[in-house]
Amino acid sequence: MKKSIVKKVFSKHVCHDGVLKRYMNICTYIKYIKIKESGCPLDKHTANCVAKAMKTWAINNGATHYSHWFAPLTGKTAEKQTSFIDLNKKGELIEEFNEKSLIKGEADASSFPNGGERMTFEARGYTVWDYTSPAFIKEDKTGNKVLYIPTAFCSYNGTALDEKTPLLRSIESLNKESLRILKLLGYKKVNKVICNIGGEQEYFLIKKEHFDSRLDLKVTNHTLFGSKPTRSQDYYSHYFGIIDDEISAFMHEVDAELWKLGIMAKLQHNEVAPAQYELVPIYAPANIACDQNQLIMEVIKKVAKHHNLEALFHEKPFSNVNGSGKHINWSLSTNTGINLFDSTIEDKNLFLLFFTSMIVAIDRYYKLIRTSTATRGNDFRLGGNEAPPTLISVFIGENIEKMLNSIGNKNTATKKPILDVGVNSLPKTKKDFCDRNRTSPFAYTGNKFEFRMVGSAQTLSWPCTCINTIMAKVLKETADKLETLTAPKTEITNIIKTNIEKHKRIIFNGNGYDDSWKEEAKNRGLVEYKDSLSCFNNLADTDIIELFESTNVLNKNELSLRKSTFEKTYVETIKVEAKTITEMTFKNVLPSINKFVSELTLSNKIENKELNKIVEILNKTASNLIKLNEKLSKLLIKLNTKNSIELKTLKDINSTMEEIRTTYDNIELYIPENIKPFPSYNDMLF
Ligand code: ADP
Ligand code: MG
Repeated sequence: MKKSIVKKVFSKHVCHDGVLKRYMNICTYIKYIKIKESGCPLDKHTANCVAKAMKTWAINNGATHYSHWFAPLTGKTAEKQTSFIDLNKKGELIEEFNEKSLIKGEADASSFPNGGERMTFEARGYTVWDYTSPAFIKEDKTGNKVLYIPTAFCSYNGTALDEKTPLLRSIESLNKESLRILKLLGYKKVNKVICNIGGEQEYFLIKKEHFDSRLDLKVTNHTLFGSKPTRSQDYYSHYFGIIDDEISAFMHEVDAELWKLGIMAKLQHNEVAPAQYELVPIYAPANIACDQNQLIMEVIKKVAKHHNLEALFHEKPFSNVNGSGKHINWSLSTNTGINLFDSTIEDKNLFLLFFTSMIVAIDRYYKLIRTSTATRGNDFRLGGNEAPPTLISVFIGENIEKMLNSIGNKNTATKKPILDVGVNSLPKTKKDFCDRNRTSPFAYTGNKFEFRMVGSAQTLSWPCTCINTIMAKVLKETADKLETLTAPKTEITNIIKTNIEKHKRIIFNGNGYDDSWKEEAKNRGLVEYKDSLSCFNNLADTDIIELFESTNVLNKNELSLRKSTFEKTYVETIKVEAKTITEMTFKNVLPSINKFVSELTLSNKIENKELNKIVEILNKTASNLIKLNEKLSKLLIKLNTKNSIELKTLKDINSTMEEIRTTYDNIELYIPENIKPFPSYNDMLF
């Protein structure tokens, strides 16, 4: 029988356990699997055997180099390619890769964001192999292949300088606390609780030539000029629309590349905005899903170029057009196959205990959850009527509400309602338990929670680390309490009731875009953090420090270096935007306006009142632009001379950029095609 395309390519470039088994002595392999299952470090011999197996497989598959692959706090991945080439003791050429090169690598920690933790004179940093995420091969456009080894990245002192380390710690903490509870409830066979993540990725695709001719897109991935397109998304024409041939070719290539990397690319479709798309893989254990999401973004970018396209991950590449997000679908499952967030599982109390623990966690730490999505790009998106509001709430739906109202009674509604379309020939199928609430930032969707605030350019790791941590904390407190009781099971109903009673203010099933919700939320004592600058300080709050320390996810220093890195990144992004807008004003916009003015003046031999008026408007626009850019430069100097974040200056910079933008946008429509400074929204989006 012929092998299907998917089966032929799936995981072709992944050094998964099946591969290792083929290349290792069976006893060592079994030992390796056992150690991995226990979560302990590998001994030297086993690690060396894994290294040798990886090397043979990689070389057999054409790799010449290997690289530790890590995620510093830049939002991007980092790597350093090393060839396998070496000399043996006799001076002969060999290809070498051993336990040492697998387990530990060195990287200059001072050159990565470290919040001042590492000075250049104490620069040592290490990358450390993460065996829970498989190594893989990446191929460049000329066919060169490199073996990539997922690693954590820390400083000489062991300080976590990356996205992975706290994520792994949060996964371990969540596993530990969940297991304590499950054991107390009599689930003796469960020995592992897995955090599952499904990350939905939105992005834009535009023609490469358009991208290349706009400095703002090249430098900031975001348009700093551009008036509203003639047609927008008002006519519901793009969402789930017919996929263009050109885009279909791109999507199929993306899927094939992702399958080779063992990523279960499942769904691709047109999104709401013109030129916007979404890719959804099947969920995976959190650490793997986070690594895979980095690769998904990389593959989308790379493949786009093959099709003369450019992919944009910015949260709001185009003003007045819907932005892009990244939804985190989150659940916990046991090694025995129970999804603890599936409302239809038999043990309703088990479900409700975990479910209400999440309610408690979000209510207590919603400021952290909000902060986990604080980035410059996301500030443009959140709160607009396309993405969740900046106010956190949890949607639970009618069915769960019913369940909560009848705690303790056995027969709560667990049968899905029937969908009847009123046509006899159409099948009667089951509906979901509840409708979808697109306005909710944190929504329960039947067997998982969906966190919709995350920005499309963010990594999955940091928001996921935060969700895991708050959940681990609440479960830990519950376990502490249950362990003091002689009959813990009988106490569960009370705990569920108290969880809801005390924390129900965070539950909101209505329209999150409605202004009345803001009023209502205020009455419930919920605070709205409108933008990133109002979020970062939350990371210095004592309850947040206590949260991360008590769950062993981050110590105070590690948390503080994140805070300062996020702030620095935010300020740097604004600075780059400001410099770019000035450069574009002088290099593109003003020459174009001047050209237009001289054309009009030339053609205006016979005095024409209307034309004179346009010339006047253009000249005024040009002089306004010059004045505004001078103001912007002064503000930037002011920002640079201050060490701390100067809120007022940042706000002034923002509003000046807005003014520059509108000044040009107001006349963009009138500039003739042949002298316009750069491609317009109409060019790029349609
Ligand atoms: P929805 O239609 O509710 O958005 P989808 O079926 O499209 O759900 O799934 C969205 C994402 O959620 C996918 O990545 C999917 O694999 C993931 N997902 C499904 N079930 C779970 C689960 N139990 N835990 C985590 N993610 C899940
Ligand atoms: Mg979804």
